[in-house]
Amino acid sequence: MPAPRMLLVTACALIDADRRILVTERPAGKSLAGLWEFPGGKVEPGETPEETLIRELREELGIETKADCLAPLTFASHTYEDFHLLMPLYVCRRFEGIPRSMEGQRLRWVLARDLRDLPMPPADLPLIPFLVDLV
Ligand code: C5P
Repeated sequence: MPAPRMLLVTACALIDADRRILVTERPAGKSLAGLWEFPGGKVEPGETPEETLIRELREELGIETKADCLAPLTFASHTYEDFHLLMPLYVCRRFEGIPRSMEGQRLRWVLARDLRDLPMPPADLPLIPFLVDLV
């Protein structure tokens, strides 16, 4: 049996001054549409995970941050039907600009404990307790 494809995605918990965390809704037409996730995206060849996040946060949310404002917290490791996802989760409290929807996706700021009430991709669910403990 062939080994499952590995996919490396980075995700970021942006935290505001009120200790709320930003989540974005996966849009219609994408896999797992309608589920809420931490912003981020696939690591492209030649990128560090931090470079990916800086690029994705700019493209998806119109904000700027720097590698030294991104602190790794934990990572998700989840086997989906056709690939295995490895997804480091970073925390970012320092960024420039106000996150806004650059790609039509819905955004929500939620307290860490309220993440449990949101439908999220299965890979993201084990990340929630780390954020509840942190924030
Ligand atoms: O966002 P994108 O579609 O590029 O992500 C690739 C895959 O990684 C998704 O199809 C989804 O299965 C998974 N994913 C996830 N949790 C995230 C982001 C992506 O499970 N926060």
